[in-house]
Amino acid sequence: DRLVMVDAGTGELYGPNLNKLGASLKAVGYSPEQITDILITHIHTDHTGGLMDGDRMVFPNATLHIERKEVAYWFSEDQRAKATAAHQKYFAEAQAKVGPYKAAGRVKTFSGATQLFPGIRSEPAPGHTPGHSFYTLESQGEKLVFWGDLLHVAEVQLPRPDITILFDVDPKAAADTRKRAFVQAVKEGYWVAGDHVSFPGVGHLQADGKGYRWIPMPYVNDFYRTR
Ligand SMILES: [Zn+2]
Repeated sequence: DRLVMVDAGTGELYGPNLNKLGASLKAVGYSPEQITDILITHIHTDHTGGLMDGDRMVFPNATLHIERKEVAYWFSEDQRAKATAAHQKYFAEAQAKVGPYKAAGRVKTFSGATQLFPGIRSEPAPGHTPGHSFYTLESQGEKLVFWGDLLHVAEVQLPRPDITILFDVDPKAAADTRKRAFVQAVKEGYWVAGDHVSFPGVGHLQADGKGYRWIPMPYVNDFYRTR
């Protein structure tokens, strides 16, 4: 009875080579109006840009689920004033993309680890942003953890999880969160999904010397079956 999506893509903000969420949804047989819930890993606009198309809410029937600290941070004028030059513009964009949902009462916040739906819970993963969260989906004995922006450049951060990126609000905490998550993913052997990991973006992690190796999920393009 619910159709749940994780993050909402870039919208128009990152150029014409992205902004493919609408077409991708359509390709799997859904319309944006059918989405009932969107789990936001964090409010950076490559994850929330697709929520608005100009002044139109792209997902008019959806409730956004966002960690409380994340909303507080991105809607704080104090934080905006304090942010580095690299982060400043994201505040304006975040408010433009999430603000209309907030004003319409369609943002529901949670605090820390929370059971959101049967089989779906959040887990705090702070550092990249203050309220950055993982979402864990468990079904029929299998587990998939949506990592959001736990890593940005797999080729660099799998062998060296200590390397951080300019966009981390708290780089030290981001690196600590990443190291912990990598250890746990190898130990428990569950599926993981990373927003910035190359297609298909879902796979397993394997220990490799002092670092890690990404084992992508085998993927078959249905297009070829229909020819
Ligand atoms: Zn991010």
